Amino acid sequence: MSLWPESERVLAVFPHPDDEMPLIFSLGQRDPARTALVWLHSTRRRRAESLSVLTAQGLGDAFVRFGEFPDGRMARGVGEMADWLREVGESFRPDRVVLPAFEQGHMDHDSGHVAGRLAFDIPADEYPLYHAYGDRLLTVNTFAPIGGPERRRILTARERRRKRWLLRAYRSQRVALHGDLFHALSLVRVRSQSPFRQESVRAVTHASYDLPAHRSVRVAQISLRPAWRAWLSAVPEELRASAAMANLRFQRP
Ligand SMILES: [Zn+2]
Repeated sequence: MSLWPESERVLAVFPHPDDEMPLIFSLGQRDPARTALVWLHSTRRRRAESLSVLTAQGLGDAFVRFGEFPDGRMARGVGEMADWLREVGESFRPDRVVLPAFEQGHMDHDSGHVAGRLAFDIPADEYPLYHAYGDRLLTVNTFAPIGGPERRRILTARERRRKRWLLRAYRSQRVALHGDLFHALSLVRVRSQSPFRQESVRAVTHASYDLPAHRSVRVAQISLRPAWRAWLSAVPEELRASAAMANLRFQRP
């Protein structure tokens, strides 16, 4: 199953090189002429790693841009990232933007989400990476509970093996190790999903960016964690509010 109509021009935003892995097959099966991949952070080495994966997946001719926003410090730069993404968008003219999920796993991921929502006045999807701040065991490849229904592409056995193999291209990171670890965990831990099982997106429908995208007692727990508090104080309230307003405009009746 395709996650987006083939006629659409899709621009996907990734905070860091290797964050593209959750969508690599879904993007790789598209016409590269209608597909854009944009990273907010990069270094020469990390650019080369992502580009080698893109080439291996038939995305060598896709529209590609690498920003140089600082790894780990994106929350203070949400406005600047939105301006840069807007500029990038003018060269590609997407119909749909695909953002890292707002899920409270990594401050840069939530920052990239809000910046992308602010930059594009078009329908937006989000894809899960991991959450949540301060959990002893992270939840990977699974959406935080607050949001719309997801659209999935269950990977074939061959694709799962290939995804596992592709992770080895990111030599500067430990994603291959983490991928294997979380895959092993999914075999023994209830409610834990393998990073290789599926690729998924859902429409961005967050009505507010002032609270974690979780339910009841988890909202209270996550709200007290240092990373959430740091994120909230770094991202100006008016930017959070305009991002939430943009979601309202694209809500299906
Ligand atoms: Zn990342």
